[in-house]
Formats: sequence, C-alpha cells, structure tokens
Amino acid sequence: MSEKFNVADIFGENVFNDTVMKERLPKNVYKNLKLAMTGVQELSLTDADVIANAMKDWAIEKGATHYTHWFQPLTGTTAEKHDSFISAPKENGKVLMEFSGKELIKGEPDASSFPSGGLRATFEARGYTAWDCTSPAFVREDATGATLCIPTAFCSYTGEALDQKTPLLRSMDAINEQSLRILKLFGNTHSKKVTPSVGAEQEYFIVDREKYLQRKDLIFAGRTLFGAMPPKGQELDDHYFGAIRERIGAFMKDVNKELWKLGVSAKTQHNEVAPAQHELAPIYAQCNTATDNNQLTMEVLKKVAYRHGLVCLLHEKPFAGVNGSGKHNNWSITTDDGINLLEPGKTPHENIQFLLVLGAVMKAVDTHADLLRESASDVGNDHRLGANEAPPAIISMFLGEQLEDVVMQLIDKGDATSSIQKGKLKTGASTLPDLNKDATDRNRTSPFAFTGNKFEFRMVGSADSIAPANVVLNTIVAESFKEIADELEKADNFDMACHDMIKKLFTDHHKIVFNGNGYTDEWIAEAERRGLPNIPSMVDAIPALTTPKAVKLFESFGVFTEAELKSRAEIKYEAYAKAINIEAKAMLDITGKQLIPAVIAYSTELANSVLAVKEAGADASTQADLLTTVTGYLKEMKTQLAALEKAIADGAEISNVEEQAKFFRDTVKTTMDALRAPADKLEMIVDKDFWPFPSYGDLLFEV
Ligand code: ADP
Ligand code: MG
Repeated sequence: MSEKFNVADIFGENVFNDTVMKERLPKNVYKNLKLAMTGVQELSLTDADVIANAMKDWAIEKGATHYTHWFQPLTGTTAEKHDSFISAPKENGKVLMEFSGKELIKGEPDASSFPSGGLRATFEARGYTAWDCTSPAFVREDATGATLCIPTAFCSYTGEALDQKTPLLRSMDAINEQSLRILKLFGNTHSKKVTPSVGAEQEYFIVDREKYLQRKDLIFAGRTLFGAMPPKGQELDDHYFGAIRERIGAFMKDVNKELWKLGVSAKTQHNEVAPAQHELAPIYAQCNTATDNNQLTMEVLKKVAYRHGLVCLLHEKPFAGVNGSGKHNNWSITTDDGINLLEPGKTPHENIQFLLVLGAVMKAVDTHADLLRESASDVGNDHRLGANEAPPAIISMFLGEQLEDVVMQLIDKGDATSSIQKGKLKTGASTLPDLNKDATDRNRTSPFAFTGNKFEFRMVGSADSIAPANVVLNTIVAESFKEIADELEKADNFDMACHDMIKKLFTDHHKIVFNGNGYTDEWIAEAERRGLPNIPSMVDAIPALTTPKAVKLFESFGVFTEAELKSRAEIKYEAYAKAINIEAKAMLDITGKQLIPAVIAYSTELANSVLAVKEAGADASTQADLLTTVTGYLKEMKTQLAALEKAIADGAEISNVEEQAKFFRDTVKTTMDALRAPADKLEMIVDKDFWPFPSYGDLLFEV
C-alpha cells in the first residue's frame, strides 16, 4: 500500500501564507504588509527587514538553504537564480544565515540572456526582479534540496516589463478600478476591491521515460516529428473519463501531494480524450495566484513524472492524428465581499447588472477578437487552432439557449419579459434521479463559452502561460466598463439609460455570439460573412499586438507601452522561427543518423532475401516489389532531407524577424511535412526490429 497522509494537514504547509504571517510577524508589520498587498501603501524597508527575517527562519525550519526570486520571463517557463542564506564567514570562521528586506524586495539578475525584443541593449544588461507581495512565497523541496521561492516581477532598469507578471498585475488594477465604477452605478459602495478569478484546467500527456529517451524528437522538440498512426487511435472514446491505471494513479497521487503542500488546490483529475492524455484542474483562485499556480503545476507534473519513470509532455500536439492539449482558462470577476459580476441570478432578465456586464464582455470580445486570439498563440498551438481541432481559430462567444433568448428579446422587442426555465432532464433510468438540466448547456466547440457564472476561454495552449490571455481579458473588459461608466455616470435617468445601453451593446455586438458547432465549414463561411477574423496561425496573429487599436487600449490603462508591445511582437516572431528551426534540425538529425541507416539495413536484408529465394528457384516477386517500394520511399526521404537542409540555411539568412517567421512557416514547415510523409509510410512497411525508435502505439498504449 502506498503512503497515507491527511490532506488538511499538508495543504499549504510549504507556503508563507496568511496564517504563517499572522503567527510570525509583529502585529503592526502584518498590518502594514496587508495594506501593501491591497495596494494602499508601500512597504517600508524596516518592515521588509522584519518580514525577510521571519520568512528566512520559517524557510530554514523547512530545511531551506537557499532563496531565489522566482519569475516568469518571456521564455514561456519560469526562471530562478539561487543564493544561499549564508553571510561572509566571521573571524571565528562561522557563518550566519541572513536574509535582508532589500534582498526580499529586489534582485538584480543579469538579464542579458532573457528575451527583451530590443527593449534593453545587452550593454544595459541590468534587469531587476521586484517582490510581488500579493503572491505568497513558498518553499520548494526536491532532490536538489529546499529553496525559498519569492514570486517576483521582472523589469528592465528603466521599468519596462520583461515578464508575464508585470502586465498581469497592471491589468488587474485596470479591471479593479473600472469594475468598481460599474458597481457604484448600481448603488454598491460596500465592495472595495474587484479581482478576476481564474481556474486553469491543464491537459497533458504521459509517456514511459525509457521509450521517451529513445525518441530524439520528443527530447528536442517536445513533440513527435515522425510517426505512423497505430491501428487504434481515440475513435472508441474509451479513454475519456476511463478508469485511471495504477501507474498513472500513483503519479497523480504524488502530483496532488506536492501541489497541496505548495497551496495549489488541485481538485479534479481524469483521463482525457486521447490515449495517454490526462487533465488536472485546481479550484479557482485570484488571477495572479492562479497564474503562478499554473506554472507550478506544470513544473510539478514534469518533475513528479520523471520520478515515476514517466515523462509529462506539455506540448500542444505531441502526436499527429490524436487530440492535442490545451488549457481552459475559466474567468470571472469577483468582489472582495464575494459578489461574482458574472452570476446571472435566478431569472436573468431581472438581473440588470448582470446583463450590462454581459453586454460589456460581448463588446470587449467582439472589438478585440484579434487580441484574444493572439493571446493564445504559441508555436505548438498552431497545430490545434484552425487545424480542425478544438477550438477553431475564430473567436466567438457561446451564451447558451436561455441567455441567448433573453438577449434576442432585448434586441427585438426592447425588453425581456420572460426567461426559459430550466427543464428537467429525463435520464430514463429508474435508478437515477432526474437531473436538473443546466440552463447554460455546454458547448465544447466554442472558444469562449459562458458556463453558468464564468467564461471559459478554451484556446490557450497547454504549455503556455495563462498570463497573456488574462492580461487581454482583464484589459478589454476594463475598457468596455470604462466606456459604459463614462456614459452612464452622466445619465439623468439611470434606469432608462442602462436599459438603452444594454440593448445597444447586444445589438451592436451580437455578431460575436455563436451557439452552434464551431468545427463545421458552414461556421467558417458564416463567420466570414459576419466579418469575424479567422487567424489560423501564430505568425498572422502577432500583428494584432501593435495595431493602433491595441496600442491605444493598452497604453490608456497603463498595461503596456507601445515599446513593450513592439518588443513582445518581436520576441514572438523570434520564438516562432527558433522553435521551427529546432524541429527542422531534429528532423535532419533523426533522418540522417537513424532512419536512413535503418531503411538501408532493412532493404539490404530484403535484397538478400530476393536473391536467396530466386536461387532456391521460387517466385521472389513479392520481396522484389517490397524492395522497390522501400527504396522508392528511401530516395524520396533523401531528396526531402536535402530540401530541408537548404530551407534551414535559407531561413538563417533572413534578418527581418517577421519575414523569417513567415519563411519558417511557409517553406520550412512544408518541407518538414514532405520529409515526414515517406518516413511514416516506411514505418508501416519496415520490419519493427529495424525501426530505430518506439512507435505511436508503443508510446500511447504502453504507459
Ligand atoms: P468543467 O466542466 O469545464 O470541467 P468545472 O466546474 O469543473 O468545469 O470547472 C472548471 C474550472 O473552473 C475549475 O478550475 C473551477 O475551479 C473553475 N471555476 C469554477 N467557478 C469559477 C468562477 N466563478 N470563476 C473562475 N473559475 C471558476
Ligand atoms: Mg472545462
């Protein structure tokens, strides 16, 4: 039997959370820290010293020897630089364990090797990390020891954001301020702060480590670059929600334990649609914490998998032909006294505030569909979005039958006088109770679906940070709120003005609503008719960041300057070209060193067999046919190998990052596909003993 533990006992045990702070900090310091956390006042250095000392003592009791500022540069992962707590040795040769307020608040990692998109010339390499006191510090334990991790923002010396967290915090300020204005219009003066709540459902694949290590494509690119489909894929739907195998279950148990200790409320786990695919969802938390927690979740998934002789693949499309992985970013807006602005109440048509907020979100998503799409773009996600997979690359909004009915009544009649009540869902089985049908029926094909009291943005890639998506959501809705509040604050008759405003928002922006099946060709045509953008690739999505519309939006709320936006666009183009370049080079390596030699060995064996059979006086035509087919594909592979080599070299010559990214998408990727085709054909023919690495079947079904 495996180890037993009590979840309530271990939950948050490695987090410097409110309970610990209350226990260990002097009353006035605790109070000042709380004020700093809500943004009311800055923390003094004297208080920071006291907090740092308490944090250090707490961390050392947990076995920590080092501390690190833990930050999220634009590389897609997290970064850290560890310092031990030791001071310079005293005369007696002893050291003290020290950690000052200054060290807690600010760090100066050499920033020259992180992407900055031209924001910071390398001779001005200094960047600094600044403590985000709203996100709790934690101690991380693993084989390398225990480390106190301090979540920080990462900026250039002149204050430009070089990370994911800084704009996220800025966007949270924006939506807070504008939401409070909306609430005030409805007479709410008791709510003091409004924060987006986020729950990120994380999908991932698990494969056996021994097999993984035989696949250079998985090692270098995180996805398979070759591989014929196994006889069985996901067509039987027998993996989805299926019983979790023991080996995976043991892994999940350890993942949960690690996450719970770190205060991440891992809640749901199940098998996903594709074989070897799984999902983990936490209980939602405030936006910033949820983002940190999702980064931690990805880290823990990978680390724990390794310990179990497994590997966790976070790539959006590790295997062609079966579903890829994404992240569902569940988003709502909540006040400090527990009001969810996206909660419709019993009958939506009575709930004016909710309808106004709904209209505001509709306007935001319609106006900035291109930005929302961009926020979910990363290299791996190009294999999902717009590639006949969930969800499509066109942004639309799902409301469900009941809400859509209310919206239409308002548009058509100017008033909503009824709402479709929840019907009973007959289950038909006498042993099951009749379920109360969810009035907001789920639509799994919508990229942005209203699911009861939150929106679920389903486009984010599984390996990506959820920060960019939330930065966009927070800021575009803040803009809507602002424009609405500007109008309504001036109104003489608020009720009438609000009613007219809702009607106008619904009428003007209803074109973004689509309740049908988003996977169909009809929808693509219909969306085009409605003028909705369809942006199938990351490279085409990036320009959305720097349009005059985007610059105005982000600058007016202090979320990004134009320079920051331009730098982000540049980083993304570069990231795209670099990622494809690595994949292409991995293909050259695998083809040249593994596939071609294997096929030559096999064709030699075939040739010997043809000769031997002939010599024995029998009919060798089958062997001879096979040999012709194999050598045909071999030749094709050799030709495409040379073409890919040339494409990579041509790509390297292009100095403009946008042009280069386009070249990698249009020429290099196409050539990669042309090389893969004969290789996958060969895999189906060549004797398995000759094939140099495990097949899709081995990877997907033998975990
Ligand atoms: P699904 O059917 O999509 O799996 P769940 O109800 O399990 O939906 O919720 C998925 C995620 O949404 C979870 O992380 C959950 O905590 C989160 N969530 C639930 N309510 C809210 C809310 N009001 N705001 C933000 N996230 C929420
Ligand atoms: Mg979901």
